[in-house]
Amino acid sequence: MDYAGRQANLQRDLGRSGLDALLITHLPNIRYLCGFTGSAGTLLVTESRSAFFTDGRYKEQASTEVRVSRIITGRKSPVTMAAEWLKRNARNLGVRVLGIEGQHLTVAEHSQLEKALRPTVRLRKSPPLVEQARMVKDADEIALLRAALELGERLFDVAIKTIRAGVTETEVAAEMEFAARRAGAEAMSFETIIASGPRSALPHGRASTTEIPAKGFVVCDFGIILAGYCSDMTRTVHVGRISADAQEMYDAVRIAQQAAIEAVSPGATAGKVDRAARTALARKGLGRYFTHSTGHGVGLEIHEPPRIAARQKDTLQVGMVITIEPGVYVPGFAGVRIEDMVLVTESGCEVLTRTSKELLIV
Ligand code: ZN
Ligand code: ZN
Repeated sequence: MDYAGRQANLQRDLGRSGLDALLITHLPNIRYLCGFTGSAGTLLVTESRSAFFTDGRYKEQASTEVRVSRIITGRKSPVTMAAEWLKRNARNLGVRVLGIEGQHLTVAEHSQLEKALRPTVRLRKSPPLVEQARMVKDADEIALLRAALELGERLFDVAIKTIRAGVTETEVAAEMEFAARRAGAEAMSFETIIASGPRSALPHGRASTTEIPAKGFVVCDFGIILAGYCSDMTRTVHVGRISADAQEMYDAVRIAQQAAIEAVSPGATAGKVDRAARTALARKGLGRYFTHSTGHGVGLEIHEPPRIAARQKDTLQVGMVITIEPGVYVPGFAGVRIEDMVLVTESGCEVLTRTSKELLIV
């Protein structure tokens, strides 16, 4: 991973944002910039320097993972250490305005920082500079996302072997999660969704102790983390004989998903991709049952920018990896969602998920 290049990009962006330095407290951003994978740390990047602060538990780990930033360990909290270090060095480094990640700093940490740095350094909420950089994946990241997805996709085979009437949703999830760990996954990227029968109408139906009924859809939405990168995919299968209504619903979602994929290209707005899915479902009279956004970026976090949602003006760029996942949820009856990960390319996009989208009757 090109940590030095990423930090250099950030240093360039600092000046443009009117900041002399940025205090990074969001762990995925820290990992992205310096490679640290532990759970306690703070990274301070000034226009010319970078220092990483962590506690004694991570001394050893930081020394192997963090190569491009100076490492400072101690007994205090990483944010306190960073504040004290900055106070000592602010004049030398020319830091007068320190950017903070407003979404990732507690009120207590903020007042502690303010107190420690007054009157030398002022705090200012930074735009999401690191999140913006993370939207476009480099070749290393794309390779890791492909590997994560490849492993994740194998779990669908486990799911379809396990899904049958009378088996509980948690049993299906358990088999998938066991197989994931056996195959080397670090963790699931979110709580596995296995939503059967009427529960398939819950867009976030985490696997429950409900027994899969003799007839109906089962929405399977799952992903794993491999080398820090998340996979995310959804397939919906049907148990038992399918009614004409249910088949129509499935076909409509599949067409909408394809329409959104076809709308993905560099320069297209996220809103345009969302609209493609929504228009296709509206044509089938199902528009009002599509109750969430069409997709999201995926990388070190399962949900990261850009949001593929109505009126989003972010334009897609080559190298972004996003999900395309329209769904239809008719309360009390059934739900269907189909989700792929796609990579934005020069000519449009590459669908990274290879699993078939033909409706599977199990
Ligand atoms: Zn998903
Ligand atoms: Zn998703």
